[in-house]
Amino acid sequence: MKEKKVISLEDKMWIRLLSENIRRVVYTSMILVIGLPALFLVYMLFPVSEGVRLIFQGAFISFEIVSIAFLILSSKAMMKRDYDMTFFAVYSFWGFVEFFGFLIASILYFEQQDLTVYYLTLAAITIIALMNTKIMWIYVGFEMVFTVILMYVMQMPPHQIVGVGMANGMFVLLSRVLYNSQVSSHSMEQQVRSMEKDSEEDPLTGMLNRRGLEHKIRSSWDQAVRNKHIVAVIMMDIDNFKKYNDTFGHPQGDECLKRVSAAVKKAASRSTDVAARVGGEEFLVFIPEAGSEVEALKLAEKIRKTVEGLKIPHAPTVSNEFVTISVGVAYVVPDESDTLQKLYGEADKALYYAKRNGRNCIVCGKYLYNREGAHQINTKEAPESK
Ligand code: GH3
Ligand code: MG
Ligand code: MG
Repeated sequence: MKEKKVISLEDKMWIRLLSENIRRVVYTSMILVIGLPALFLVYMLFPVSEGVRLIFQGAFISFEIVSIAFLILSSKAMMKRDYDMTFFAVYSFWGFVEFFGFLIASILYFEQQDLTVYYLTLAAITIIALMNTKIMWIYVGFEMVFTVILMYVMQMPPHQIVGVGMANGMFVLLSRVLYNSQVSSHSMEQQVRSMEKDSEEDPLTGMLNRRGLEHKIRSSWDQAVRNKHIVAVIMMDIDNFKKYNDTFGHPQGDECLKRVSAAVKKAASRSTDVAARVGGEEFLVFIPEAGSEVEALKLAEKIRKTVEGLKIPHAPTVSNEFVTISVGVAYVVPDESDTLQKLYGEADKALYYAKRNGRNCIVCGKYLYNREGAHQINTKEAPESK
């Protein structure tokens, strides 16, 4: 059982079934604890031989005590989410009801041709154990042995044998339906989860897409607003990528995108940095704890350099020998009136100026950073921000 704690998909299913079963054990043992004394009293009203009465008393009292013990054990296992204890409680209770229930049922049938306890036992077992195939066959085996005893030892009449058989069939079926519905609702849940994940991930690069990005950074942004610390956005766009595609074809364009995105991810490697593909050949890195604008600029330069360092040959019609990116950086110490959209807009604007000022460079506010160093640029004719 210990190794079951490594959470694989099957383990999750297993834990889920155990959790469901332990709940049922709690309820079933609760019903037994309350119902057994009532049943016992009613039976005591019937005239039975002294010997049977003694066996009966013993059986009912032990059944009651064990049910109380199981109620305590299973409640504990459920509350503590202790799956080893759960496993023990579920399967020992199942075996206990199977054995003890049928024992009392046999005595009752022998004494009074009464099958009440037998049917109750069947119902209890059905409720307790969501039966996987193995348990189902163990159960069917038990039932067959018991039916044979009823038929040959207790001389059960044919109509009752048919009744017992039908009841068994129905309870096994019910248990199976319960089990299957658990399994399918679990796998449906898994499917929905993986769909959610897919819809937040860009399939080509494995990066977050815009939706994934929004999801991931929502809380960081709120935190920055609360703590009044600086956050920064780096917006990047591959230079002249259309020409790359036109020259080398779309599939190779895709390969190039994959390599550039990997470089972006590699450069923005701090665990708090969030990198995403936000357009065809556009990427964004969100830095929730930028520290200062200088830090953000440093990271932007690191990314720009890393992409350039890939030395992916560009189309001959492009002045840059290799594939490069233009970068726009924006930062803010946000307050309630600020929005992420505003920050994206500023980074976008900066990116626009980087494109206008020769590409393969970084713009942040009024400053352009390229090989010649930093210098002020004219940012008067600003484009419409997104
Ligand atoms: P600029 O330097 O100004 O950014 O020029 P550009 O050619 O990179 O920009 P433009 O917006 O004109 O072209 C972007 C190109 O990116 C056009 C499109 O074919 C290509 N593209 C967008 N998404 C994908 C993609 O998923 N795969 C491939 N192979 N190409 C893509
Ligand atoms: Mg673009
Ligand atoms: Mg481009």
